[in-house]
Amino acid sequence: MMPSRLNFRLEAQAADSRARAATFRTLHNEVQTPLFMPVGTKATVKAQLPRTLEEAGTQILLANTYHLLLRPGAEVFRRTGGIHGFMSWDRAVLTDSGGFQIFSLPHACEMSEKGALFQSYLDGRTILLSPELSIETQIAIGSDIMMALDQCIASTADEASARAAMEVTHRWAARSLAARGDSPQSIFGIVQGALFRQLRAESAETLGKMPFDGFAIGGLAVGEGKIEREDICEFTARLLPADKPRYLMGVGTPLDILEAVHRGVDMFDCIMPTQLAQRGAVFTSRGFLQMRRGVYKFSNEPLDPACNCPTCARYSRAYLHYLTKASETLGWQLLGKHNIHFYQQLMRDIRESILTGRFGDFYREKRVILQESDREYPARRPKPARPKSMSLGNYAVHIAHEGFGSIRQASSGEIMHMRTPPMEEARSLYIEQSKLAQRLSAFHEPLVIWDVGLGAAANAMAAIECYETQARKGPIRPMRLISFENDLDSLKLALRHDDKFRYLRHGGPVGLLERGAWQSKQHAGLSWQLVPGDFLATVAQAPAPPDLVFYDMFSSKTHGEQWTIDIFRRLFAACAGRAVELFTYSHSTAARAALLAAGFYVAKGRPAGAKEETTIAFTPAALGSPFTRSYELLAAEWVGRWHRSHAKFPAEVGTEERSAFEQLIEAHDQFRK
Ligand SMILES: [Zn+2]
Repeated sequence: MMPSRLNFRLEAQAADSRARAATFRTLHNEVQTPLFMPVGTKATVKAQLPRTLEEAGTQILLANTYHLLLRPGAEVFRRTGGIHGFMSWDRAVLTDSGGFQIFSLPHACEMSEKGALFQSYLDGRTILLSPELSIETQIAIGSDIMMALDQCIASTADEASARAAMEVTHRWAARSLAARGDSPQSIFGIVQGALFRQLRAESAETLGKMPFDGFAIGGLAVGEGKIEREDICEFTARLLPADKPRYLMGVGTPLDILEAVHRGVDMFDCIMPTQLAQRGAVFTSRGFLQMRRGVYKFSNEPLDPACNCPTCARYSRAYLHYLTKASETLGWQLLGKHNIHFYQQLMRDIRESILTGRFGDFYREKRVILQESDREYPARRPKPARPKSMSLGNYAVHIAHEGFGSIRQASSGEIMHMRTPPMEEARSLYIEQSKLAQRLSAFHEPLVIWDVGLGAAANAMAAIECYETQARKGPIRPMRLISFENDLDSLKLALRHDDKFRYLRHGGPVGLLERGAWQSKQHAGLSWQLVPGDFLATVAQAPAPPDLVFYDMFSSKTHGEQWTIDIFRRLFAACAGRAVELFTYSHSTAARAALLAAGFYVAKGRPAGAKEETTIAFTPAALGSPFTRSYELLAAEWVGRWHRSHAKFPAEVGTEERSAFEQLIEAHDQFRK
């Protein structure tokens, strides 16, 4: 058996915990554990200079084989001498194998014993990522620590699938070791086995006998709860060889890291420090702060008085608040700098407490503070008006015979969701029909949803509920929810009566009302933003074009201006050539004709509440997609009915424009054979 290439030396073991401190030597530097690796997926930690990372005390940087294989490609690393010179980073680099990324591509990937066959998202090339190709690429990249290719599955998988994936992982582990040959680069094996202790034990034992230089606990932080994760982490770490480093992949918040150190883990990586920074959020010694909050607007204090990072040394909360509100890149950079520093300082403090025999106390004290949000300015829910009025502005709470609450617009008398509880309709009509859960499981770009007509936020909360459910099952793509609304009274009113609107008992709606935006603390990929004003005016200024539109305006009977060709044309233009699908409860002939005239394809949607049919519209770019292929497009028979309808022409079509409008509809692509 080859000796470890890392020369791992255990220095201290906490008395009342499994926490330990060690030192090992990579090809570039000696590192001290426990340690945190910032994530430089594409050979760059977002918005951070390598020097900043170094100054914060970063000892190892994580890069991603899957992404670097696709671009710039292994050849670039071979010809330019490897990642260190390429990105000007002269400390250690760990490359993950690509296993996790393939796992995140469930629809674009075919697994076999050979490896994972997938299509490049850059140029459509078909690539077989085998253990050999993964190691060959990692050798070319020149990382200090390589990861064996593993088959990651959702931690909530059943036992048979978990066993199958684990067994493939073991065979791939042996192939990865063979592919490494006599390269001086180290390699870690990855323990799998989902949440089954028997499998974890088997995996730790099998891999533990192979000549790896260290071991990772994989397949966690992909759908299980915090307690389950900590149990399995503790159980697995205990079974791994004591004389090699242990690495918990993809974890986590500062608190998660503290908990895992306590359970015997030495190494961590997570994208949170920079990803949260981009969204204006920071970890501090006084709790977790969201810098968008108005409470920091006039504050001359540093971000964290206990921090000695360059951001805290020079900039006030007021400036950082302003940069964040203005979405300035510098805000992202400065907050990221602080967050990375915070993580690295935490690791140093943890290590120090282990070395000096104080870890137990440190752990108990830190656990509390790491769970807090802003100590000095705790977020408060708006105080309910007393006595609770059942109406606000133009809206009143309506209680259906069935007992559920909904909102009635006083001026029109129209009730949102008259027959069905708001969340039920939202789930069926918008969430299930748009197959949101399935779309979230695809990898790549954030999914942008336009929630047009926020109302009492049922559709938005149904989307958030779906995201949170999916995120518990496994890694999913980010989701950006953008709500359009000109009158927030209905949401305010519903929030006051959250006993009738229980789905609003969530941090999102309060955040949206107070700050116009909300970022999930639990899921870095989930954000929600409000665009106030009339949709007709704001549609062109939306912060990002949509992938999905939930069009839930008051009906055309009372609010005709929201169902015109003009508004749908503007919406169509805002789609900017993208594949966009729109869902709406209406199936009125005039609304469908307006959508067709604006350029959308129009199909029948599923029934909802008392409506026997609803409507789906989509842009030409979405034609033929796996989703739109299953829709039933309006056909000649609809055109016939439309000709006979007394609502044939949208109100805005003048008498002299009618024949042109008729031609426009009849000539629409979707009615051609
Ligand atoms: Zn700082």
